[in-house]
Amino acid sequence: MKKQGNPYLLLTPGPLTTTPTVKSAMLGDWCTWDRKYLDLVQNIRSRLVGLATRNPENYTSVLIQGSGTFVVESVIGSVIPYHGKLAVLMNGAYGERIAKMAKVIGIQTVVIDFGETSPVDGAQLEAVLLEQPDITHVAVVHVETTTGMLNPIEEIGRAAKRHGKVYIVDAMSSFGGIAFDVADLDIDFLVSSSNKCIQGVPGFGFVIAKTSSMLGCAGLARSLSLDLYDQWETMEREGGKWRFTSPTHVVYAFYQALLELEQEGGIARRQERFTNNQRVLAKGMARASFRALLPEHNQSPIITSFYYPDNESFSFAELYERIKEEGFVLYPGKISSAPTFRIGNIGDVNVSDMERLTESIECIRFW
Ligand SMILES: *Cc1c(COP(=O)(O)O)cnc(C)c1O
Repeated sequence: MKKQGNPYLLLTPGPLTTTPTVKSAMLGDWCTWDRKYLDLVQNIRSRLVGLATRNPENYTSVLIQGSGTFVVESVIGSVIPYHGKLAVLMNGAYGERIAKMAKVIGIQTVVIDFGETSPVDGAQLEAVLLEQPDITHVAVVHVETTTGMLNPIEEIGRAAKRHGKVYIVDAMSSFGGIAFDVADLDIDFLVSSSNKCIQGVPGFGFVIAKTSSMLGCAGLARSLSLDLYDQWETMEREGGKWRFTSPTHVVYAFYQALLELEQEGGIARRQERFTNNQRVLAKGMARASFRALLPEHNQSPIITSFYYPDNESFSFAELYERIKEEGFVLYPGKISSAPTFRIGNIGDVNVSDMERLTESIECIRFW
């Protein structure tokens, strides 16, 4: 059944399917500098740090307007000094995007390419760090949404920290849906956004940062509107104030989404729901004779890639249209090495939705 007010369930993170209560939290107009609103922003900032670590003393957070990419670019363009050098571990489009940003900004960059279907690897990073001691920063994507790959951020962090590097993690599609502790992993800058596992609507992203690392970034930014330090410093000094017009409706919806994450039982419970969704999805798709791109041990509980079937009459466009009529939107593939499509399982969706989806797919035997 379609959820109330929704034309279909979005299995396309993101935007993704949000609850009716998150959507209705937007039905008001708020002043961007009113004290009550600023207090809400402060509340969100401290809740985010609380979600990121059991030891919040050394961490802080900052919200930034735009989609997730803007916020990744804000970090890449604000935390690496002019003489710095960035190592990017790449196994998909989002790692590639980080390398592209660095190039546009003019940052010296070395890309460690793992192809599209292998996880990134700490030993290989370590070899590069030994070879190129002038590397100052390491960036990695936690869940490569391109394929659904779960990258080993703990192992990468250990390698980066053994060599004293600043550690940047794009946890866009994992933060809030996969449990980990930024302090345990010694992450300096973690990026995520309003419209992924927290289950808000699109409009801003956020950075969880080690406070000491953030303090070192004054004056480094190559962009005014994406100046991470300046945005953070303003929020700190003026108690929740954004430098420019903030997406007030999105912020209210995000606060509601944070309350609902808490009501669900926190990140560990949400991870359980996502994991169950993914298992039911993978099982149902296997029943319908679709092969997953990744082996189970590399598969995240967020999004799954499936090969097109070995049948010339298969058309993803037709599958997409017919499944949309059943109330689901699927996601086209994004890798170059094989024809695939993707199905996300985050958002306000559960195992019964996954069962209904895979039963519908099984029934479409037009190929
Ligand atoms: C969604 C996502 C982004 C940001 O994409 P936007 O379209 O800018 O929101 C970045 N990295 C990863 C891993 C993502 O899944």
